[in-house]
Amino acid sequence: MRLLADSSKCSGCGACLVICPLTHFKDNNPTRAALTVEGRFPAPGGYQVSVCTQCGECANVCPSSAINLDEATGVYWVDPELCTLCIACVDVCPESVMFVVPDVPFAIKCDACGECVKYCGPGVLSISPPLPGEGPGERLTTPPPHVYPLPTKPTTFPLGGYAGTILRLNLTTKAVTKEPLPLKLAEEYLGGRGFAARILYDEVPAGADPLGPQNKVIFASGPLAGLFVPGAGKATFAAKSPLTGSYGDSNVGGHLAEELKYAGYDVVVIEGQSPTPVYLLIDDDKVEIRAAGDLWGQGAIATEKALKDRLGEAFQIATIGPAGEKLVKFASISHDFGRQAGRTGVGAVLGAKKLKAIAVRGSKSIPIGDVDRLMAVGKAMFQACFDSPARQVWQRYGTAGVTTWSNEVGAFPTRNFQSGQLEGHESLSGEVMREAMVLFDKGCGLCPVPCGKYSHTRGLYVEGPEYETTAMLGGMCALTDIHDVAQANYLCDELGLDTISAGAVIAFATECFEKGIIGLDDTGGLALQFGQAAPVFALIEKIARRQGIGDVLAEGVKIAAERWGRGSADFAMQVKGMEISGYECHLAPAMLLSYMTTDIGAHHNRAWAITYDLQVGREKVTEDKAAKVIQLQHIRPLFDSLGACRLHWVELGLGLEHYAPALSAIWGREVTWEEMLKCSERTWNLTRLWWVREFPDFGRAYDYPPARFYRDQVSGGPTDGAIVSWEDVQKLLDMYYQQRGWDQNGMPTAEKLRELGL
Ligand code: SF4
Repeated sequence: MRLLADSSKCSGCGACLVICPLTHFKDNNPTRAALTVEGRFPAPGGYQVSVCTQCGECANVCPSSAINLDEATGVYWVDPELCTLCIACVDVCPESVMFVVPDVPFAIKCDACGECVKYCGPGVLSISPPLPGEGPGERLTTPPPHVYPLPTKPTTFPLGGYAGTILRLNLTTKAVTKEPLPLKLAEEYLGGRGFAARILYDEVPAGADPLGPQNKVIFASGPLAGLFVPGAGKATFAAKSPLTGSYGDSNVGGHLAEELKYAGYDVVVIEGQSPTPVYLLIDDDKVEIRAAGDLWGQGAIATEKALKDRLGEAFQIATIGPAGEKLVKFASISHDFGRQAGRTGVGAVLGAKKLKAIAVRGSKSIPIGDVDRLMAVGKAMFQACFDSPARQVWQRYGTAGVTTWSNEVGAFPTRNFQSGQLEGHESLSGEVMREAMVLFDKGCGLCPVPCGKYSHTRGLYVEGPEYETTAMLGGMCALTDIHDVAQANYLCDELGLDTISAGAVIAFATECFEKGIIGLDDTGGLALQFGQAAPVFALIEKIARRQGIGDVLAEGVKIAAERWGRGSADFAMQVKGMEISGYECHLAPAMLLSYMTTDIGAHHNRAWAITYDLQVGREKVTEDKAAKVIQLQHIRPLFDSLGACRLHWVELGLGLEHYAPALSAIWGREVTWEEMLKCSERTWNLTRLWWVREFPDFGRAYDYPPARFYRDQVSGGPTDGAIVSWEDVQKLLDMYYQQRGWDQNGMPTAEKLRELGL
């Protein structure tokens, strides 16, 4: 028996690297896994998985004959009594998967137990030769894995799942300090977005310039991140947003969240402003601010590659592109060659601080309150994902699978929300994309069903296009060639732009041009026309570099409309300054209410309520729709606080009842789902207080949708002629405020704040 790996199927999720040490050491440190996964980007190679081949080289060199072949299974094993820890076996191992760890007085090697095979979603791993009745890749239950529990180390933080430390970095003074994580912060805000909202509210003064030294950037992980829970690899970047002027955050997958905790930190607080370009290096206890003059001006993908080459593949990198350097208000933070913390302009805040990148590597264990319980809960959660009927389709197409459905129901934003269906949308479908360009699937940390698609087109490597990008750069700009959308996606990723806002501002400019509101003088001679790819590519470049018309569009549609005037504000599709994302909702009141009330400005991920509209009757404006929006606004952002992906629940039906037991096991203390939701509601109300504090005139009008929804009927498609009445807009807000316990101007009441301990 031996472990086999088909690297071509690997999505890089690293679940094998977590389950291996959990099984053998009751510890979650991937540096103790008896296999390795290495990414090789940007290139067609993808991931390289190295496993023990039972070649016997270790036995050949062992001077104390501690490594012997078990004839019954064909597996070499280490006799702990004979091992002298000379590490000759470690040095000779051709796959570099034999190792020693502190506190265990003998060398460790793969015993082909098969646990990693069971939890490898893409089917990379298998045991060979097959046992009678079993084919490669089938789940094994024997032999039982060897378990060498490590001595329990005292932890300073009372709850499991946290490193227990906040890292603070001042770019003005270059001071680096470490502080204990307050227990109350963890209990009341959980992590991720909750930590960010609270710390920023307390530390960034009201009225601070988002691009000035008083603003701070929070990079935060959550208690689930890096532990054995599906999709537990989500990090939050947050700051006072330069796009909206209030609290802004954005979530990113990949591997930053777990790596930060492996390095020993839950949160990084970035303060001040550096006079020259720098990057932050976090390598366990070593934290350094290093010069980045040679990286300034480089693309985000190029910078990630350069830092990996310089520092080593094991470093996880977050970086900005030229758009962040130029303070484009919707600049993104890029990670893992295509994952983005895209929304609210957090990349511009890093650019203002002259922080080009963050590189983090860790080798520490994350404390777990009850390892056995977590393994039981985690295994049930992984199995539920594997058993989901939606798994095959989700894994094959990812979010791009939504494109056809969205068009069929008239929700695909087309020509700046003039329509909900794009003629020719068939050529943008997930099926077409998969066939035309996808090389392999790519996943975030611990994801059993990777939705990321790594693609190659026109000589470019790009992760995607996923649904939102196809909606905003495809539908909104009326591009019907998936290769054009992928090229625009690549440009945004490399230049460091949020594809959602980028698509929205380009569509806005194009409609203004077609309506004669702006002309060739405004565009610098560029003729804008829906359906034309060349102007889209040109505008992306101009926006990222703030050239000509790009300098205006780099401010977002709200400010651009204020600059242009001439009635253009009617076509600026935004709420609270942030561009609406990829769902047309003239005939979806719950989805519209979600956009109106989202705490960072219009964004779908807080309450993706459109399916509820379809389920209960999309024309209805009823109390239950407000209740559904509020319920989703507590559940969905909760995942951002926990540090896990919500899509296993949304798309695969993974039951929410798993999450309280998972957090209880991790914390080592019982917590209920209701208590977790209360933390989320607390965070939601705190972010509302941000708006109240920042804008003296804040109130109901800030929640109004763009005029297009109540003035212009939908043109064409299944929702042709649909329009929202102004009375319904008011009714939606009345119901929403009342159910939230806010007054009718949208202010949280003293009673509600008291109830939440705010
Ligand atoms: Fe990442 Fe979630 Fe997609 Fe998995 S489903 S790859 S965790 S975004």
